[in-house]
Amino acid sequence: MTEGIRPVVVRTREELRAARAALPGPVAVVMTMGALHAGHAALIRAARHEARSVVVTVFVNPLQFGPAEDLARYPRTLDADLAVCAREGADLVFVPTPEVVYPGGDPEVRVGAGRLGGVLEGAARPGHFDGVLTVVAKLLHLTRPDRAYFGRKDAQQAVLVRRMVTDLDFDVEVVVVPTVREPDGLAMSSRNAYLGADERRAALALSRALRAGRDAGPRGAAAVLAAATEVLAAEPGCQPDYLVLVGPDTLADVPPDHRGEALLAVAARVGATRLIDNLPVTVRAVAGPAADDPQEAR
Ligand code: AMP
Repeated sequence: MTEGIRPVVVRTREELRAARAALPGPVAVVMTMGALHAGHAALIRAARHEARSVVVTVFVNPLQFGPAEDLARYPRTLDADLAVCAREGADLVFVPTPEVVYPGGDPEVRVGAGRLGGVLEGAARPGHFDGVLTVVAKLLHLTRPDRAYFGRKDAQQAVLVRRMVTDLDFDVEVVVVPTVREPDGLAMSSRNAYLGADERRAALALSRALRAGRDAGPRGAAAVLAAATEVLAAEPGCQPDYLVLVGPDTLADVPPDHRGEALLAVAARVGATRLIDNLPVTVRAVAGPAADDPQEAR
Protein backbone atom coordinates (compact mmCIF):
# COMPACT_ATOMS: atom_id res chain seq x y z
CA MET A 1 0.00 0.00 0.00
CA THR A 2 1.62 3.23 -1.12
CA GLU A 3 0.96 6.33 0.94
CA GLY A 4 0.40 9.46 -1.10
CA ILE A 5 1.16 12.96 0.08
CA ARG A 6 -0.98 13.67 3.18
CA PRO A 7 -3.88 15.91 2.24
CA VAL A 8 -4.51 19.12 4.15
CA VAL A 9 -7.21 18.50 6.76
CA VAL A 10 -9.48 21.42 7.65
CA ARG A 11 -12.27 21.54 10.22
CA THR A 12 -13.63 25.09 10.25
CA ARG A 13 -15.21 27.32 7.60
CA GLU A 14 -12.29 29.76 7.87
CA GLU A 15 -9.68 27.02 7.34
CA LEU A 16 -11.69 25.66 4.43
CA ARG A 17 -12.04 29.07 2.79
CA ALA A 18 -8.29 29.73 2.98
CA ALA A 19 -7.27 26.25 1.79
CA ARG A 20 -9.89 26.23 -1.01
CA ALA A 21 -8.69 29.60 -2.28
CA ALA A 22 -5.21 28.15 -2.75
CA LEU A 23 -6.38 25.19 -4.90
CA PRO A 24 -5.77 25.35 -8.65
CA GLY A 25 -8.87 24.56 -10.74
CA PRO A 26 -10.76 22.73 -11.98
CA VAL A 27 -11.75 21.54 -8.52
CA ALA A 28 -13.70 18.33 -7.84
CA VAL A 29 -15.54 17.41 -4.67
CA VAL A 30 -16.40 13.97 -3.30
CA MET A 31 -18.90 14.12 -0.43
CA THR A 32 -18.87 11.23 2.05
CA MET A 33 -20.00 10.25 5.52
CA GLY A 34 -16.62 8.60 6.18
CA ALA A 35 -16.01 4.88 6.86
CA LEU A 36 -14.39 5.03 3.43
CA HIS A 37 -14.15 1.88 1.32
CA ALA A 38 -13.27 1.00 -2.26
CA GLY A 39 -16.48 2.62 -3.53
CA HIS A 40 -15.48 5.98 -2.10
CA ALA A 41 -11.93 5.43 -3.34
CA ALA A 42 -13.27 4.96 -6.89
CA LEU A 43 -15.04 8.33 -6.65
CA ILE A 44 -11.86 10.06 -5.43
CA ARG A 45 -9.87 8.35 -8.19
CA ALA A 46 -12.33 9.44 -10.89
CA ALA A 47 -12.19 12.98 -9.51
CA ARG A 48 -8.40 12.82 -9.43
CA HIS A 49 -8.29 11.87 -13.14
CA GLU A 50 -10.69 14.56 -14.26
CA ALA A 51 -9.83 17.59 -12.12
CA ARG A 52 -6.73 19.44 -11.01
CA SER A 53 -7.63 19.52 -7.32
CA VAL A 54 -9.75 17.14 -5.24
CA VAL A 55 -11.66 18.03 -2.08
CA VAL A 56 -13.17 15.22 0.03
CA THR A 57 -15.76 16.01 2.69
CA VAL A 58 -16.26 13.66 5.65
CA PHE A 59 -19.44 14.52 7.51
CA VAL A 60 -22.10 12.31 9.08
CA ASN A 61 -25.08 14.56 8.39
CA PRO A 62 -27.61 14.36 11.25
CA LEU A 63 -30.27 15.99 9.07
CA GLN A 64 -30.62 12.93 6.82
CA PHE A 65 -31.10 10.37 9.62
CA GLY A 66 -34.56 9.54 10.96
CA PRO A 67 -35.13 9.38 14.73
CA ALA A 68 -35.02 5.56 14.72
CA GLU A 69 -31.98 5.32 12.42
CA ASP A 70 -28.31 4.58 13.03
CA LEU A 71 -26.83 8.10 13.46
CA ALA A 72 -25.19 7.33 16.82
CA ARG A 73 -23.70 4.01 15.77
CA TYR A 74 -22.77 4.99 12.19
CA PRO A 75 -19.10 3.88 11.82
CA ARG A 76 -16.55 6.66 12.38
CA THR A 77 -13.02 5.79 11.23
CA LEU A 78 -11.29 9.11 10.54
CA ASP A 79 -7.67 7.94 10.67
CA ALA A 80 -8.33 5.17 8.16
CA ASP A 81 -10.38 7.62 6.05
CA LEU A 82 -7.49 10.06 5.87
CA ALA A 83 -5.20 7.22 4.79
CA VAL A 84 -7.60 6.43 1.91
CA CYS A 85 -7.71 10.12 0.97
CA ALA A 86 -3.90 10.23 0.99
CA ARG A 87 -3.58 7.06 -1.06
CA GLU A 88 -6.04 8.30 -3.68
CA GLY A 89 -4.38 11.72 -3.92
CA ALA A 90 -7.00 14.03 -2.39
CA ASP A 91 -5.65 17.54 -1.83
CA LEU A 92 -7.99 18.74 0.87
CA VAL A 93 -10.26 16.96 3.38
CA PHE A 94 -13.02 18.93 5.10
CA VAL A 95 -14.06 17.29 8.38
CA PRO A 96 -16.61 19.58 10.02
CA THR A 97 -18.71 18.92 13.12
CA PRO A 98 -22.49 19.44 13.00
CA GLU A 99 -21.91 22.79 14.78
CA VAL A 100 -19.69 23.95 11.91
CA VAL A 101 -22.17 22.90 9.23
CA TYR A 102 -25.28 24.03 11.15
CA PRO A 103 -24.06 26.92 13.34
CA GLY A 104 -27.63 28.00 14.10
CA GLY A 105 -28.83 24.49 14.93
CA ASP A 106 -31.17 22.61 12.57
CA PRO A 107 -31.75 24.89 9.58
CA GLU A 108 -35.15 26.53 9.31
CA VAL A 109 -34.93 26.72 5.50
CA ARG A 110 -34.17 23.45 3.69
CA VAL A 111 -34.08 22.10 0.17
CA GLY A 112 -37.27 20.17 -0.62
CA ALA A 113 -36.72 17.03 -2.67
CA GLY A 114 -40.30 17.04 -4.04
CA ARG A 115 -42.09 14.03 -5.51
CA LEU A 116 -38.82 12.25 -6.39
CA GLY A 117 -37.82 12.51 -2.75
CA GLY A 118 -40.97 10.75 -1.57
CA VAL A 119 -40.66 7.49 -3.51
CA LEU A 120 -38.49 4.39 -2.92
CA GLU A 121 -35.91 5.33 -0.24
CA GLY A 122 -37.88 8.48 0.50
CA ALA A 123 -41.03 6.47 1.25
CA ALA A 124 -39.11 4.36 3.78
CA ARG A 125 -37.15 7.30 5.17
CA PRO A 126 -39.39 10.40 5.38
CA GLY A 127 -37.40 13.64 5.11
CA HIS A 128 -34.19 11.78 4.25
CA PHE A 129 -33.65 13.41 0.85
CA ASP A 130 -34.53 16.90 2.12
CA GLY A 131 -31.67 16.37 4.60
CA VAL A 132 -29.36 15.02 1.88
CA LEU A 133 -30.04 17.84 -0.59
CA THR A 134 -29.76 20.49 2.11
CA VAL A 135 -26.28 19.32 3.10
CA VAL A 136 -25.22 18.78 -0.52
CA ALA A 137 -26.30 22.35 -1.32
CA LYS A 138 -24.39 23.70 1.69
CA LEU A 139 -21.25 21.68 0.92
CA LEU A 140 -21.39 22.82 -2.72
CA HIS A 141 -21.51 26.43 -1.53
CA LEU A 142 -18.71 25.87 0.97
CA THR A 143 -16.34 23.96 -1.35
CA ARG A 144 -17.28 25.71 -4.66
CA PRO A 145 -16.31 22.79 -6.96
CA ASP A 146 -16.46 22.67 -10.75
CA ARG A 147 -17.47 19.00 -10.55
CA ALA A 148 -19.12 16.87 -7.90
CA TYR A 149 -18.84 13.07 -7.88
CA PHE A 150 -21.58 10.72 -6.64
CA GLY A 151 -21.96 6.92 -6.68
CA ARG A 152 -24.63 5.06 -8.64
CA LYS A 153 -24.97 2.83 -5.57
CA ASP A 154 -27.24 5.59 -4.26
CA ALA A 155 -29.05 6.03 -7.57
CA GLN A 156 -32.00 8.00 -6.20
CA GLN A 157 -29.62 10.41 -4.45
CA ALA A 158 -27.71 10.94 -7.71
CA VAL A 159 -30.97 11.60 -9.61
CA LEU A 160 -32.06 14.10 -6.96
CA VAL A 161 -28.72 15.91 -6.86
CA ARG A 162 -28.85 16.27 -10.65
CA ARG A 163 -32.38 17.63 -10.41
CA MET A 164 -31.41 20.09 -7.69
CA VAL A 165 -28.45 21.29 -9.72
CA THR A 166 -30.68 21.76 -12.79
CA ASP A 167 -33.78 23.09 -11.03
CA LEU A 168 -31.91 25.54 -8.79
CA ASP A 169 -29.13 26.50 -11.26
CA PHE A 170 -26.11 25.33 -9.31
CA ASP A 171 -23.00 25.97 -11.40
CA VAL A 172 -21.48 22.50 -11.05
CA GLU A 173 -21.18 19.39 -13.20
CA VAL A 174 -22.54 16.24 -11.54
CA VAL A 175 -20.63 13.05 -12.35
CA VAL A 176 -22.05 9.62 -11.43
CA VAL A 177 -19.60 6.74 -10.92
CA PRO A 178 -20.60 3.04 -11.27
CA THR A 179 -21.10 0.92 -8.16
CA VAL A 180 -18.03 -0.83 -6.76
CA ARG A 181 -18.70 -4.37 -5.52
CA GLU A 182 -16.99 -7.01 -3.43
CA PRO A 183 -15.69 -9.93 -5.54
CA ASP A 184 -18.85 -11.91 -4.64
CA GLY A 185 -21.14 -9.15 -5.90
CA LEU A 186 -22.16 -7.39 -2.67
CA ALA A 187 -22.26 -3.64 -3.27
CA MET A 188 -19.73 -1.93 -1.02
CA SER A 189 -21.37 0.04 1.75
CA SER A 190 -20.26 1.44 5.08
CA ARG A 191 -23.29 -0.36 6.55
CA ASN A 192 -21.91 -3.79 5.50
CA ALA A 193 -19.82 -3.51 8.68
CA TYR A 194 -23.01 -4.17 10.66
CA LEU A 195 -23.53 -7.61 9.04
CA GLY A 196 -22.70 -10.84 10.85
CA ALA A 197 -21.39 -13.78 8.78
CA ASP A 198 -24.84 -15.31 8.14
CA GLU A 199 -26.31 -11.91 7.32
CA ARG A 200 -23.43 -11.16 4.96
CA ARG A 201 -24.30 -14.40 3.09
CA ALA A 202 -28.00 -13.52 3.01
CA ALA A 203 -27.18 -10.01 1.74
CA LEU A 204 -25.75 -11.54 -1.44
CA ALA A 205 -29.34 -12.20 -2.54
CA LEU A 206 -29.70 -8.50 -3.44
CA SER A 207 -26.99 -8.45 -6.10
CA ARG A 208 -27.92 -11.98 -7.21
CA ALA A 209 -31.52 -10.88 -7.75
CA LEU A 210 -30.41 -7.81 -9.69
CA ARG A 211 -28.20 -9.87 -11.98
CA ALA A 212 -31.00 -12.37 -12.61
CA GLY A 213 -33.29 -9.46 -13.46
CA ARG A 214 -30.75 -7.85 -15.75
CA ASP A 215 -30.19 -11.14 -17.58
CA ALA A 216 -33.95 -11.36 -18.23
CA GLY A 217 -33.89 -7.92 -19.93
CA PRO A 218 -34.26 -9.38 -23.44
CA ARG A 219 -37.56 -11.02 -22.34
CA GLY A 220 -39.25 -7.79 -21.27
CA ALA A 221 -40.06 -5.81 -18.14
CA ALA A 222 -42.34 -8.40 -16.49
CA ALA A 223 -39.70 -11.08 -16.93
CA VAL A 224 -37.06 -8.84 -15.34
CA LEU A 225 -39.18 -8.34 -12.23
CA ALA A 226 -40.22 -12.01 -12.07
CA ALA A 227 -36.64 -13.26 -12.29
CA ALA A 228 -35.37 -10.85 -9.64
CA THR A 229 -38.34 -11.49 -7.31
CA GLU A 230 -37.82 -15.24 -7.49
CA VAL A 231 -34.18 -14.97 -6.41
CA LEU A 232 -34.94 -12.56 -3.58
CA ALA A 233 -37.86 -14.65 -2.29
CA ALA A 234 -35.60 -17.72 -2.08
CA GLU A 235 -33.45 -16.08 0.63
CA PRO A 236 -35.28 -16.18 3.98
CA GLY A 237 -32.63 -13.97 5.61
CA CYS A 238 -33.68 -11.04 3.40
CA GLN A 239 -36.89 -9.06 4.05
CA PRO A 240 -37.49 -7.08 0.87
CA ASP A 241 -38.85 -3.55 1.18
CA TYR A 242 -39.14 -2.86 -2.54
CA LEU A 243 -37.97 -4.34 -5.82
CA VAL A 244 -38.82 -2.10 -8.76
CA LEU A 245 -38.02 -1.51 -12.40
CA VAL A 246 -38.13 2.25 -12.92
CA GLY A 247 -37.14 4.93 -15.40
CA PRO A 248 -33.54 5.98 -14.64
CA ASP A 249 -34.52 9.67 -14.31
CA THR A 250 -38.23 9.52 -13.44
CA LEU A 251 -37.91 6.75 -10.82
CA ALA A 252 -41.47 5.79 -11.84
CA ASP A 253 -42.38 2.17 -12.65
CA VAL A 254 -41.82 1.44 -16.34
CA PRO A 255 -44.89 0.25 -18.29
CA PRO A 256 -45.09 -3.46 -19.22
CA ASP A 257 -44.21 -2.67 -22.85
CA HIS A 258 -41.19 -0.54 -21.92
CA ARG A 259 -38.16 -0.87 -24.12
CA GLY A 260 -34.76 0.67 -23.52
CA GLU A 261 -32.88 1.62 -20.39
CA ALA A 262 -34.35 1.13 -16.93
CA LEU A 263 -33.11 0.86 -13.37
CA LEU A 264 -33.74 -2.28 -11.33
CA ALA A 265 -33.60 -1.17 -7.70
CA VAL A 266 -33.93 -3.12 -4.49
CA ALA A 267 -34.05 -2.40 -0.76
CA ALA A 268 -34.18 -5.11 1.87
CA ARG A 269 -33.64 -5.58 5.55
CA VAL A 270 -31.04 -8.17 6.50
CA GLY A 271 -31.25 -8.62 10.26
CA ALA A 272 -31.35 -5.06 11.62
CA THR A 273 -29.53 -3.59 8.61
CA ARG A 274 -31.30 -1.95 5.67
CA LEU A 275 -29.39 -2.43 2.41
CA ILE A 276 -29.99 -0.96 -1.06
CA ASP A 277 -28.61 -1.85 -4.46
CA ASN A 278 -29.45 -1.31 -8.13
CA LEU A 279 -28.38 -2.21 -11.65
CA PRO A 280 -29.07 -0.57 -15.00
CA VAL A 281 -31.08 -2.95 -17.23
CA THR A 282 -31.65 -2.83 -20.97
CA VAL A 283 -35.23 -4.00 -21.56
CA ARG A 284 -36.40 -5.31 -24.89
CA ALA A 285 -40.06 -5.03 -25.71
CA VAL A 286 -42.10 -8.19 -25.88
CA ALA A 287 -44.61 -7.99 -28.72
CA GLY A 288 -47.51 -9.79 -27.05
CA PRO A 289 -48.33 -12.00 -24.09
CA ALA A 290 -47.25 -15.14 -25.96
CA ALA A 291 -44.15 -13.73 -27.62
CA ASP A 292 -41.91 -15.84 -25.41
CA ASP A 293 -43.36 -18.89 -27.11
CA PRO A 294 -41.82 -19.40 -30.56
CA GLN A 295 -44.87 -21.44 -31.66
CA GLU A 296 -47.21 -18.56 -30.88
CA ALA A 297 -44.90 -15.82 -32.08
CA ARG A 298 -44.93 -17.00 -35.69
P1 AMP B 1 -21.74 7.70 1.82
O1 AMP B 1 -20.46 7.88 2.56
O2 AMP B 1 -22.37 6.37 1.99
O3 AMP B 1 -22.69 8.86 2.02
O4 AMP B 1 -21.35 7.76 0.28
C1 AMP B 1 -20.63 8.83 -0.25
C2 AMP B 1 -20.61 8.71 -1.75
O5 AMP B 1 -19.99 7.47 -2.11
C3 AMP B 1 -22.01 8.69 -2.36
O6 AMP B 1 -21.98 9.43 -3.58
C4 AMP B 1 -22.24 7.24 -2.61
O7 AMP B 1 -23.15 6.98 -3.66
C5 AMP B 1 -20.85 6.77 -2.97
N1 AMP B 1 -20.71 5.33 -2.78
C6 AMP B 1 -21.01 4.61 -1.66
N2 AMP B 1 -20.83 3.30 -1.88
C7 AMP B 1 -20.44 3.17 -3.17
C8 AMP B 1 -20.09 2.05 -3.99
N3 AMP B 1 -20.13 0.79 -3.54
N4 AMP B 1 -19.73 2.30 -5.27
C9 AMP B 1 -19.69 3.57 -5.75
N5 AMP B 1 -19.98 4.66 -5.02
C10 AMP B 1 -20.36 4.46 -3.75
